[in-house]
Amino acid sequence: MECKIEIVFDRELLRIQREEQKEEYHGKFRPSSLGRCYRYQIKQRRQDPITNPIPVKTLRVFWIGKLIHTMLQELFPKECCEVPFSWDDIQGSADLVMDRVWDFKSIKHYPFTLLKKKDFDIRSKLPEVLQTMMYTRAHEKEVGVLVFVDKNTMEFHEIELKLVDWINELHKELSTLRRYWDANLSHDMLPAIKPRAYGGKECGYCVYRDACKSEATDQEMVYFEEKKKKKKEVKSDGVTTERKEQEGPRLF
Ligand code: SF4
Repeated sequence: MECKIEIVFDRELLRIQREEQKEEYHGKFRPSSLGRCYRYQIKQRRQDPITNPIPVKTLRVFWIGKLIHTMLQELFPKECCEVPFSWDDIQGSADLVMDRVWDFKSIKHYPFTLLKKKDFDIRSKLPEVLQTMMYTRAHEKEVGVLVFVDKNTMEFHEIELKLVDWINELHKELSTLRRYWDANLSHDMLPAIKPRAYGGKECGYCVYRDACKSEATDQEMVYFEEKKKKKKEVKSDGVTTERKEQEGPRLF
């Protein structure tokens, strides 16, 4: 019998995904979604059916991230890792909590190199910042550290964030979410179709893509248009041609 390891691996990833979806949901907002589209966060909290499941190719990338997380957490006492908190309407677990809070983010090589550029703007990582600040606030610490890890080279880049500098932004995010949640409960209303994260490309790989697309106005359809980019292709005879390729999602 032919056994393709790749198939066995993908099957396992899909099985884990199904198990995770079955886990009892706490019905609250998630720190890891802060800074993302408000509509997404409301849909996620009210558990709308997923119309575009995460493809297995992406699950593979997430798997590498999980391995790096586990490996780093094994370096510290168990009680300092995955430290949970639970408020009335938001709940989650911080990667590492000691005198401060650390959040691990494994990313691809190219975005990692951008972090080190002089003109790098931390606001371009607002979801990651808000998540870290949420844990920092919930665990009553003053400093949170975003630890970026290059998946290719295992290089590290740490960015220290003071809660005092971000507390207003965090409050703004939470109060906006609470307003939208109340509007959803009282009038079954959803926030507008408006991506916020990942350079405005959020809809392109959102799990609610088809549901939102079917409700979008003509103006909102712009968020669902597939961008094409030209890519040079070298044929076996050495002739270079250009072909159009669908732009893939940016994976953290
Ligand atoms: S498809 Fe776009 S607008 Fe809809 S929930 Fe996702 S990110 Fe938000």
